[in-house]
Amino acid sequence: NDYRRYIPGIGGIGDDRLALETSLRHALVQEQFQLYYQHQVDIASRRVVGLEALVRWHHPTQGMIPPDRFIPLAEKTGLIVPIGEWVLREACRQGASLPGVRMAVNLSARQFRQKNLVAVIRQVLSETGMAPADLELEITEGTLMDDVGSAIETMKQLMELGVNISLDDFGTGYSSLSYLKRFPIDTLKIDKSFITEVTTDAGSEVIVNTIIAMAHSLGLKVIAEGVETDEQLAILRERGCDQVQGYLFAKPLPYQEAIEAAHF
Ligand code: C2E
Ligand code: MG
Ligand code: MG
Repeated sequence: NDYRRYIPGIGGIGDDRLALETSLRHALVQEQFQLYYQHQVDIASRRVVGLEALVRWHHPTQGMIPPDRFIPLAEKTGLIVPIGEWVLREACRQGASLPGVRMAVNLSARQFRQKNLVAVIRQVLSETGMAPADLELEITEGTLMDDVGSAIETMKQLMELGVNISLDDFGTGYSSLSYLKRFPIDTLKIDKSFITEVTTDAGSEVIVNTIIAMAHSLGLKVIAEGVETDEQLAILRERGCDQVQGYLFAKPLPYQEAIEAAHF
């Protein structure tokens, strides 16, 4: 129930995309997805306090395809809805056996706008036995800005379920400060592009300092993403950042390896 235009010049690109889309349709039933988990480390105690679930696609012929390549396609085709639900269920199933450990799950824009989102999350929580307080949903500013009114309504319903909400990739989107205080969120995640430059670019350092100070004034927790060096960590600690994620501590790992390395 669809049509596509064919432009001869881009035939190759179109074919590739179409092939990827076709295999993406089968990936769920053929169990080609796997969740990797990255440690979220509390700066003060140096303990792993949370895990972020990051989806991986093991393509039968192309090997591991990174989410940046297939999530946008999944979003465009609507496949993100069943894939996202699988991610949520799998992360909660595995997270349920780690009480007190925060499990962060990324929600895409299309998923967030699904009318039954709150019902799905409620069902997954009860099915898996995951404590709502241990679940954190990561959304980006772009997702919220499409329709701010209904986004706030959805976030309130999620909060009523007892789950937490964080703003991912903070600083790269629209960042409307007047909305920020209206959004019922717990956590800001500073985008890794600022962290990468925090020791080399004065502008990035100012932005990082400002985000941390502002978040704390609003009563929000701050997580820095993409921390790779001790120098970056030192600045973040000095500025009072709460938690960090990055290769300096751990790369995203399969579940078993992630929990063994975490020493909970
Ligand atoms: P994100 O949610 O901002 O996740 C952080 C990304 O940064 C991850 O890439 C992670 O592997 C990477 N990263 C972590 N620490 C470092 C570091 O120290 N250095 C560098 N260079 N990178 C680091 P990944 O796993 O490739 O995921 C990319 C994006 O794909 C995610 O960004 C998220 O937006 C999306 N994504 C991943 N899994 C899911 C999912 O299950 N659902 C949805 N909707 N999106 C997902
Ligand atoms: Mg994320
Ligand atoms: Mg991010």
